Amino acid sequence: MRILVTGGAGFLGSNLITQLLAKNDVDEVICLDSMLCGLDSNVSPHLNNPRFKFIKHEITQPLDIQVDRIYHLATPASPKVYQMDPIHTAKTIFLGTLNMLELATAQNARFLLTSTSEVYGDPLIHPQTETYWGNVNCTGIRACYDEGKRIAETLTFDFHRQKNTDVRVARIFNTYGEGMRINDGRVIPNFINQAIEGKPLTLYGHGQQTRSFCYVRDTIEGLMSLMEQEDIMGPVNIGNPDEHTMEELANTVIRAVGSTSTIEFNPLPGDDPRQRKPDISLAKKSLSWEPRVTLEEGLSRTVIYFKNKLGKG
Ligand code: UDP
Repeated sequence: MRILVTGGAGFLGSNLITQLLAKNDVDEVICLDSMLCGLDSNVSPHLNNPRFKFIKHEITQPLDIQVDRIYHLATPASPKVYQMDPIHTAKTIFLGTLNMLELATAQNARFLLTSTSEVYGDPLIHPQTETYWGNVNCTGIRACYDEGKRIAETLTFDFHRQKNTDVRVARIFNTYGEGMRINDGRVIPNFINQAIEGKPLTLYGHGQQTRSFCYVRDTIEGLMSLMEQEDIMGPVNIGNPDEHTMEELANTVIRAVGSTSTIEFNPLPGDDPRQRKPDISLAKKSLSWEPRVTLEEGLSRTVIYFKNKLGKG
């Protein structure tokens, strides 16, 4: 079993690789990354492992390599990062997915697309089920990512219908944990950093928008389970239904760090979804999967990781 992980030096990719290398039936894990958002520190722990191989590659270019499984993760996922060069983001998602589907088809490999809760946009039904078609502003500042992932899902199902490609689609909700970049720009890294440094936490808007956060290990177990199922293609929601307002999250992070930071209100970015919570009935039934780590437990582990990164461990 040879497994390709695109975006393998990134947050989710590196955690996935650690889990894959722990499995006896995996002969080789190939990590592909452009290192735009990838971290050397996510790759270096594996470099001495003979079952691990790193290839620096821009996913917008085709690739010819022998593989049995493709986990396609390569894309910046933080709004701050994907909005810095939105044309590159859209190109990476579309061409990257196309190239990996071509490779999967040529190799008779199974392909798993990591799609996103962002395909639901600013959702009009709550919690979100896989049957909901979403509410995305196709001209907004988040569209390069949201619409990118929507066309990526379309391509994936068209490859299956037209070329019989063996595909799986996961819709991942907000995930956090070890391996995130300090300056990632997403809410949990921002809040933890600010709380450790004793700076005010930058709450956007009135802080009443909600998200549901899943600890990275739980997310990875969900993805690996979906990849090995024989009778479901998806899309399947992978996330933790434990929903919080961003104001609640700020206070939970302050407690987890033991910080004296205050909260500072900042303008709400454009098209920021008001609420998000996965319905995970399908994952529970078809993957026998559900998240196990609570927000408090996951945050305390993540705080240790960030303190070490900041030299304050
Ligand atoms: N957010 C915040 N402060 C920050 C960063 C983000 O209040 O420093 C809010 C953001 O407006 C959004 C939520 O936290 O409502 C989650 O943002 P993130 O960028 O982590 O991911 P998203 O779910 O929006 O893609």
